[in-house]
Parts: sequence; structure tokens; C-alpha cells
Amino acid sequence: MIEIAIFVLFHPQRLTVKAVPGTLLQVNEMTIAGGKAVGLRLVGMEIDWFAERETRTARVVKFKGDMFVSVPGKIERRYKGALTVTPDLGELRAVLTLDVEDAVGAITEAESPPGAPMEAKKAQAVLARSWLLGNRGRHRGYDYCDTTHCQVLKDSVRSEAAVATRGVVLTYDGKVFAPAYSASCGGRTKTAREVGWGAEPYPYFAVDCPVCEREEKEWVRELPNVPGQVGDEGARIALGRKFGWDVLPSNNYVLAGQVARGKGRGHGVGYCQRGGAGLAEEFDQLLRRYLPNTVVGVGR
Ligand SMILES: [Zn+2]
Ligand SMILES: [Zn+2]
Repeated sequence: MIEIAIFVLFHPQRLTVKAVPGTLLQVNEMTIAGGKAVGLRLVGMEIDWFAERETRTARVVKFKGDMFVSVPGKIERRYKGALTVTPDLGELRAVLTLDVEDAVGAITEAESPPGAPMEAKKAQAVLARSWLLGNRGRHRGYDYCDTTHCQVLKDSVRSEAAVATRGVVLTYDGKVFAPAYSASCGGRTKTAREVGWGAEPYPYFAVDCPVCEREEKEWVRELPNVPGQVGDEGARIALGRKFGWDVLPSNNYVLAGQVARGKGRGHGVGYCQRGGAGLAEEFDQLLRRYLPNTVVGVGR
């Protein structure tokens, strides 16, 4: 089981949880029927929760079942599992406890490029599973958040690719690690050192990517200021935070004065999603192509 804090970016003080029609939802000591809703509101160090025309007060509100969770007027998602809501520094902290395989399915479907073939989706499922298992404890009190800091978790959905690769992870040096991947490498992937990362737990390798080489169009950007080292991911993130994420789309570029010419999108390290979706190879071949010297197999 893993724990993911949801709706972190919204700093919610109110939440609504609705039972999916045709199911029963457990709420603390109560059970509510499909279609009915529970409203939660932060009041100091406690939570007022409203259900079945009655308001109760509690320090913790726990849900279990299949539910729509929303920050009223802002976002609604469907989750299956256990949800624990507590007050946390002036906001409601909602933490979802779910089976690793369910999280793998949700991430796989959210992260796969539209129309990706099954083998590419299976590769994505192995990446997601390895990421989750190799990268625990990024926060105090829960494992991951649902922002880009950790991994964007969208609705719980069934994923055929996750089921087909159940338990399969990537290891390097005998250990499961959290593999990097990007949307499009632009024709050749980067080593960890090239983008300014450490070589642990995996050094990454420069791998030719025939799909991006052939299909990616060149982009040209006049940069507001020159990043220190060409291809440095820290410099690209700093530029992106200040001027927007399109200011320097990838690390695969050459610089002439203030003008960058490049290809691809993302940091360009590790597995290439565009390449994986465009090659007719099996998922384990795809993973070993972009992540050389790793082992693809069922973990313990
Ligand atoms: Zn996080
Ligand atoms: Zn590529």
C-alpha cells in the first residue's frame, strides 16, 4: 500500500465526497448509499462533516470505497480506496491509501501519450511501478503528493497495461530505482551528468532515438537570459519557473548568443515516451533500449 496526498495545490478548507452510484461508502462509523454526499469543512483543529442532514465534529474523517472527491467549484476526481482527512496547518489534508497496482494503473493511463500502443503502455506501467517503489518517503506523513513534485495522479482507472505487467519493475545493481523519463528526447537521450544530475542510483546513458530524430521538428527560442551550462536541467527549470515552461522546451539544443535551436520536450534523460510509442518493440526491449544495463523483472 502507498499513501498519496491529493489536491495539495488547492490548499482546501472544504471538501465534498460522494459515493459512486450503486456502491456503499463508509464514513467513520457510518455507511452512506451511492449518490449521497458528505461535506467537510475545516474548523480550527477539527473538521465539521455533514451527512444525512446532520453535522458531526471529528479530528479525523475516514472514507472507504469508490468515491468522487471534490474541492467544490474547482476539481473533482474519482478514487477507489481509503481516504483519510485531517486538519493540517490551516488546510484539510486528504491522504489516499491505495494498492500499488491501482496507483500504477492510474499513472500509466495518465502518463501515456494519446494513442500509445500496448507495448509502450506496458513500458510506462513498469516505469510507474518502479518509480513508486523506488522513491518512497518524499514527504513526512505520506509517501507522495499529487503535484508534479511527485507524480500527477488522475482518476483511478483500470489499466490493461498495468495488469499485464503486474509486479514487474526495473532494477539496476540489484535495486529497484525510480527511473527518469521524458516526453521526447529530441533524437538522443542525455546522461545524468550531462544535465547536471548525480550518477546515483543510475547514471543514464546517451541513447540514439530514431523516432525523435526522424519526427521531431526543430524549435527556435530567443532566451530572456542565457542558462549557465547548455543542457543543464537545473538551469532549464529555473528559466521555466520564471518565464514559463515553453521558454526552453528541452535540454537538447545548441546555443548561438541568446538563440537556442533544439528538438524535443522535457529533460531528455532516460526513457523517451515519444520513442517508445513509435517503435514496434516489446516493452522490455523498449525499457532496455532507453535504460541500458537495467534488468526488467518481477520484484519481490
Ligand atoms: Zn511531492
Ligand atoms: Zn526520443
